[in-house]
Amino acid sequence: MFTEFDLNPQLLKALEALKFSTPTPVQTQAIPLALAGSDIMACAQTGSGKTAAFLLPTLNNLINNPAPNSGTRALVLAPTRELARQLFKQCEALAKFTAIQAGLITGGESFKFQAATFRKNPEIIISTPGRLIDHLGRKPTLMEDVEILILDEADRMLDMGFADDVVEIANACQAQRQTMLFSATMNQKGIRHVIKQVLKEPVEVAVDEIKDKHANITQQMILADDDQHKDRLMTWMLANETYRQCIIFCNTK
Ligand code: AMP
Repeated sequence: MFTEFDLNPQLLKALEALKFSTPTPVQTQAIPLALAGSDIMACAQTGSGKTAAFLLPTLNNLINNPAPNSGTRALVLAPTRELARQLFKQCEALAKFTAIQAGLITGGESFKFQAATFRKNPEIIISTPGRLIDHLGRKPTLMEDVEILILDEADRMLDMGFADDVVEIANACQAQRQTMLFSATMNQKGIRHVIKQVLKEPVEVAVDEIKDKHANITQQMILADDDQHKDRLMTWMLANETYRQCIIFCNTK
């Protein structure tokens, strides 16, 4: 039960409104550690409840230690606009009964509008790395009050080439901060390097490493000679395999 954590009543009220009663495994492990202020590196996938696992303790720590004269105090970095938007929505839902404000900063929105978001001085900013780097270029002190930094879907962020940006953004936050990293896998090339640079003595939380979940899926790799061959193989499989529904993942738009 969420009531077993030392969470602010306003957050428990939001959980009740969202009909979240039982914490998921990643929430059970991460929330007490995060409430205590530890740096965390957690292996957790989409659907695990990871968002609330980092947002609840973040909101709780901000509420319990008010700092009315400071700038943005918590920063969540996400690889894509879509994920950032989802995180923002969940943050608003969890913070509904508190005075905490959140702001969303992603590419594709006007700088003018985003400058207005920063001027409102929200306690939490949720952003994609590229656009935040642009804003930091204009105002390097923008994130200097950030005491909680969260890297969500860190493996994807690094796959997309954001490693240097992530480290630069971390360096623009307070040196004395809490940092939490969530990733679907810790085997991503380069993730250990970023962890070393950005986290301090992190506690490891591992609930479901990416491959553990797929025991009921048969995986098969088919080699194609070239793109045309691949297209023919795909067409053949779609025509001849037995399936009710099918998902095809691609690596680009
Ligand atoms: P996430 O892994 O953070 O993307 O969350 C997956 C989904 O689970 C989201 O739609 C959440 O709203 C929902 N969720 C998160 N935690 C809980 C919980 N403890 N009980 C029920 N639903 C939850």
